[in-house]
Amino acid sequence: MTGTTLDDYTGRYAQRIQGMTASEIRALFAVASRPEVVSFAGGAPYTAGLPIDAVGEMLNELMARRGVSALQYGIGQGEEQLREQICSVMALEGIDASCGASPDDVVVTTGGQQALDLIARVFLDPGDVVFAEGPTYVGALGVFQAAQAEVVHVAMDDQGLIPEALEEAITTVARSGRQAKFLYTVPTFQNPAGVTLSEQRRERVLEICQRAGLLVVEDNPYGLFRYEGEPLRALRARVREGVIYVGTFSKTFSPGVRVGWVLAPHAVREKLVLVNEAQILCPSPFSQAVVSAYLSTMPWQEHLKGFRELYRERRDTMLESLASLMPAGTRWTRPEGGLFIWVTLPPGLHSKAMLPRAINARVAYVPGTGFYADGSGTDTMRLSYCLPPPERIREGVRRLASVMEQEMSVRAVFGAPAERGDTVGRPSVDTPAPGVA
Ligand code: PMP
Repeated sequence: MTGTTLDDYTGRYAQRIQGMTASEIRALFAVASRPEVVSFAGGAPYTAGLPIDAVGEMLNELMARRGVSALQYGIGQGEEQLREQICSVMALEGIDASCGASPDDVVVTTGGQQALDLIARVFLDPGDVVFAEGPTYVGALGVFQAAQAEVVHVAMDDQGLIPEALEEAITTVARSGRQAKFLYTVPTFQNPAGVTLSEQRRERVLEICQRAGLLVVEDNPYGLFRYEGEPLRALRARVREGVIYVGTFSKTFSPGVRVGWVLAPHAVREKLVLVNEAQILCPSPFSQAVVSAYLSTMPWQEHLKGFRELYRERRDTMLESLASLMPAGTRWTRPEGGLFIWVTLPPGLHSKAMLPRAINARVAYVPGTGFYADGSGTDTMRLSYCLPPPERIREGVRRLASVMEQEMSVRAVFGAPAERGDTVGRPSVDTPAPGVA
């Protein structure tokens, strides 16, 4: 090209990436990962709890047995042996042959994140509407934004998604002459809110979606991490059609292997494989072989039990610390499983504006706004209890409570943070920093 310079790229970007920004929070997280900071920000599992030596031996053995094929290209749908094992994992949550689940309808992906991206590529055109809980998983918001879809949030309470709110959202969107493409939901131990869709509401939500002809995308990374109460069957276990199910080995084994999957109705499965091939040719055969060996040669359900005990203790510590230390007017969810607690601050506090001061006080969290497409949630935050040991959790909550109390007294004297000139506006959807998602 003559006459043009290639040092200005801004006018060349595709529309779909124009709203994508690395959030200013990322910079704070670099500081937050310092050892002196108690970080409740991460969404990463406690991989230090894995028997690393035994996993090392497993890898040696794997290389000796299947090294050549594991290092070769594979097939776009993913290896058959792993797809069969995935079906046994899903059966633990009620998704089995009786509801039509079969290895043939499983597509292996690069984590649950790529599974969501494949689904978006198959279903979403620019301007399409997607329903999602408010708040919802930040990584899903990034995917839907990249697909130029519009996310309409549906309210939750401590029983999960509110069916009446879903009905209302369907009616409102229909009134505007449109129809949502699907409901994206994390019904069990939701990220970020920690709440679980109750038994009664599971049936009700499915009924509403089926009546409205609305597809459901059920994302379930945390279902096997229940610490109390009765297990509830997944949505996909209750119906044969109409639910696309997303799973991952990121929490049950390792996020580093990047292996997840989609279980889709047969016709949709075809499309997902085509898009998978276009995007990555095939999911990593090496990673698939590692997961497959982990499932077949290691006592993985015993490991899972160990993780559940560890996370339960940390959850209990965080709940007890919140109860004894948080200022009056603070509310929080009480998760029966998973990794997250959702906190609503006393009136007037702004979690994003408060974050630099919290990090200064050596405690970190994720401000709630990142989990909404529309900038709401300024008075909320997500706390994760899976990485810090109990004594650090207590100390972290103590630090957080004291930052909140200082904010409240400053506010009492000088007015709300916005009035003090802090940044309270919300940029476009923050892309999730790995490890924070
Ligand atoms: N969905 C939800 C609800 C999540 O919380 C996460 C990870 N934090 C993912 C999907 C994606 O995880 P991965 O790509 O590691 O499977």
